[in-house]
Amino acid sequence: MFIVRLFLFKSLVALILVNGTVVGLEWTEYHNLDEIYEWLSDMEAKFSPLVTVYTIGYSYENRPIKAIKVSSRPGNQAIFIESNIHAIEWISSAASTCFLNNLLHSNDKNLEDLLLRYDWFLVPVMNPDGFAYSHEINRWWRKNRKPTGFSNETGPCYGTDLNRNFNYEWKKSDFPLNDPCDHWYHGSAPNTEPEILALQNFINQFEDSYIRLYLAIHAYGNFVLLPYGHTIEIFPPNYDQMMRIAQGFADAAVIKYNTTFKCGASGLLNHSGYVSGDAKDWIYGVKNVPFAATIELRDNGGYGFLLPADQIAEVCTELTDGMVGLIKAAEMERLLTPNI
Ligand SMILES: [Zn+2]
Repeated sequence: MFIVRLFLFKSLVALILVNGTVVGLEWTEYHNLDEIYEWLSDMEAKFSPLVTVYTIGYSYENRPIKAIKVSSRPGNQAIFIESNIHAIEWISSAASTCFLNNLLHSNDKNLEDLLLRYDWFLVPVMNPDGFAYSHEINRWWRKNRKPTGFSNETGPCYGTDLNRNFNYEWKKSDFPLNDPCDHWYHGSAPNTEPEILALQNFINQFEDSYIRLYLAIHAYGNFVLLPYGHTIEIFPPNYDQMMRIAQGFADAAVIKYNTTFKCGASGLLNHSGYVSGDAKDWIYGVKNVPFAATIELRDNGGYGFLLPADQIAEVCTELTDGMVGLIKAAEMERLLTPNI
């Protein structure tokens, strides 16, 4: 059955190329939310029924939060990716969509295997309000856009850092995140923000053990960050195993451009100090997904959040190669079982 479906995929791609009707993202510039969403719709139209686009919920300003699923065969385990939960990190959605595009279109045997043997989910823009605001008003915006109810000398303060608002060990960070006007505000309580509730509701509908890997794509610093963020006194039960899998990413991602990814608990490595209430700790700690990581893409701070668009293609290659290495390592560890 899957050979037929693969043939269908490739036939469709060939048809699209012959007709010259490839539209959408090009990964030579940073695209806005509408362009990314149009690309999702294009992929669904071209690859249906293997590709499905979902609206998993709505942001505070009522923008849809969209997810794309690729499933070639029943019985696959799932790999879940999200990006741009931090609005400022444009490279995260550029690279994650480019990676998915590689999965759908590449003739590389490794990627064809990944496409067939696993279900793939991607939420390319977890924070659509912040992302739009970053494109239209303030390139440096990080949080969502819900008013906090507080003001300072500049006026009302907007936004919660969504990746500090999840209800797992919330507010355990040693780093102060409780100023409602601050860049990293963790919210007035855990799980207050509509964007992360939409993600949680979407994930909660799946059977336990369906999602085996969760990757939160961020920038910058070149890290593969593992649970936990809130403490370095305690490490996850399968921390050593997760480290070997993370190293699979790093070993593959370094090859083409010599970009070195450091792997370890985010409490140990994250440059902003301890982090609590983030997505990876929630998915690991609450949903028991056995591998969860935050991948911090380029760079090491030269350009920082303003990474030039002419680096998107190389970062996409690093992410793609890294994912192939990571999944091979997860299969070696028997954390993933390919549906062959
Ligand atoms: Zn981030």
